[in-house]
Amino acid sequence: MQTFQCTCKNRPVLFFENTVCIACGRLTGYSEKLHAVVAFTPCDQTDFFLCDADPDTRYKKCANFHQHSVCNGMLSEAELENNPQELCYYCHFNHAIPDLSISENIALWRKLETAKRRTLYTLQGLSLPIPDRVEDPANGLMFKFLADKSSEDHFREPLENQSTVYTGHNAGEITINLSEADDVARHRTRVSMNERYRTLLGHFRHEIGHFYWDQLVAEHPDALALFRSTFGDEQLDYQQALKTHYEKGEQKDWSQQFISAYASSHPWEDWAETWAHYLHMVDTLETAQHYGVRLDAAEVNHHQIDSANTDIHQTIEVWTTFTVMFNSLNRSMGLQDAYPFIISDAVSEKLNTVHRIIRNATLKAQ
Ligand SMILES: [Zn+2]
Ligand SMILES: [Zn+2]
Ligand SMILES: [Zn+2]
Repeated sequence: MQTFQCTCKNRPVLFFENTVCIACGRLTGYSEKLHAVVAFTPCDQTDFFLCDADPDTRYKKCANFHQHSVCNGMLSEAELENNPQELCYYCHFNHAIPDLSISENIALWRKLETAKRRTLYTLQGLSLPIPDRVEDPANGLMFKFLADKSSEDHFREPLENQSTVYTGHNAGEITINLSEADDVARHRTRVSMNERYRTLLGHFRHEIGHFYWDQLVAEHPDALALFRSTFGDEQLDYQQALKTHYEKGEQKDWSQQFISAYASSHPWEDWAETWAHYLHMVDTLETAQHYGVRLDAAEVNHHQIDSANTDIHQTIEVWTTFTVMFNSLNRSMGLQDAYPFIISDAVSEKLNTVHRIIRNATLKAQ
């Protein structure tokens, strides 16, 4: 993720999520039109704002920014046309939001939005198509952020015959259980399931991987053949595979072939896990480069992934070296490893398959 700069004195850094510049105190927000976070000044007596980067256009806050401060989207007048809900690009994918009569839910929802926006921003950087429900009524992307009746239901024991909310993907619809945004609940789940890593961003990156399997692989014979040659046959009974995984626990030697124990449950989960790691790698290396960290490879930035680059094994080598460094930095602060994973040769091959499928899809779209 790149950072941005305010136009005020000393040009302080603005982060993707910022809603205010700490130096000049102005409102800041993300404009899809400008592809940047910039500072805004209010127009007198109106809901509109102006910015230095685009002085002839008036902007308005996204309704979710204005009413609940869960995003920082700013909409130009042109973007507000035919947009009666006044939602920004990232918010327009929402089809269900948490119950806002429970005040605690707003803070949890805000965390979900932050992770969602980061995920979508990386997809945009990769030039991937992100069809919504209008462009693709059957399988277009939409999000549902739902809560169990009690936040303890999901994380202690699933209740029989009660509507437990399962985080998952189904035909473009991504559901995230609001409890995942609760740090205590998520940590408890991570420990009880013996997972090395469990974050909101990781959930979004995993579930969006299922979405792109439908979009880029399912109906595309070449991509499907490539997928099966590295990930195996997805026609295996999915429900049975998950049941077996949860009943028998993890396979002993999973780390030779898979990025996580869960990835070993079924080729679809393997794909989604690997896809998430591809996004972890692309985004984190971009961040490092943005801060001037010297990375010894010509090509590590997703903006530079182009037709000339058919193979990302060199990038994976850089990533592996880099993760050793940034895990060590975390240890220096008494924190857990930021990237507690080992990329085996088999996983490297799978990451390359994800890369090739993304690359072929984006080349076709050009
Ligand atoms: Zn400023
Ligand atoms: Zn918004
Ligand atoms: Zn999954």
